[in-house]
Amino acid sequence: MARANGIPATDVYEFDASRQSNRVSANVSGFARTQRISLNDNLVKRCTLPEIETTMGHEMGHYVLNHEYKGLVMIGVVVVIGFSFLSWGINFSLARWGEKWDVRGISDVAVLPLSVIVFSFYFFLMTPVTNTITRTMEYEADMYGLNAAQQPDGEANVDLMLGEYRKLDPGPVEEFIFFDHPSGRTRITAAMRWKAEHPQSASPEEVARPIFKSQ
Ligand SMILES: [Zn+2]
Repeated sequence: MARANGIPATDVYEFDASRQSNRVSANVSGFARTQRISLNDNLVKRCTLPEIETTMGHEMGHYVLNHEYKGLVMIGVVVVIGFSFLSWGINFSLARWGEKWDVRGISDVAVLPLSVIVFSFYFFLMTPVTNTITRTMEYEADMYGLNAAQQPDGEANVDLMLGEYRKLDPGPVEEFIFFDHPSGRTRITAAMRWKAEHPQSASPEEVARPIFKSQ
């Protein structure tokens, strides 16, 4: 699969997660030449080969589509906008309560706790934005994984397993605001749609059968 997707990989990394939980999980981590795909031991132990393949395809999607770098840039933009919010928030608060708090200005070290509060508040407000950034990339990785592994049933099964720790069927608003991955319903719907549109991938015997019957 790695070769077919232009990934210069020689090893598969497995990490120990079973001592903490039995959740299945995988990820892409590292930077430049240290980038790697890791599968946790629960995934390898609990899943069938098609389920592992579709998960691998999803992680390969993250790698091939450069999601780590894109995420860094997009979250970076959110952070930079956050600095202007921070400046506005501190000036606004000090104008109102600065004297009462005995904080002399933005250069006073005593402003630090306030800046932490303002910055945290900003990221709270940005929750739908940061979640939508990651959720969009996760959906892209799902599409990539479906095409790379061609295992829509495996994908749907893994999505159901993720229901052990993620709500499978939230409302659309709930998904938009709180979900950093597509919901199980969204992912399974996409997998089944892919399956419907690739009928030849459903069963290998179907593909092997000759199209024209000899007389
Ligand atoms: Zn992912």
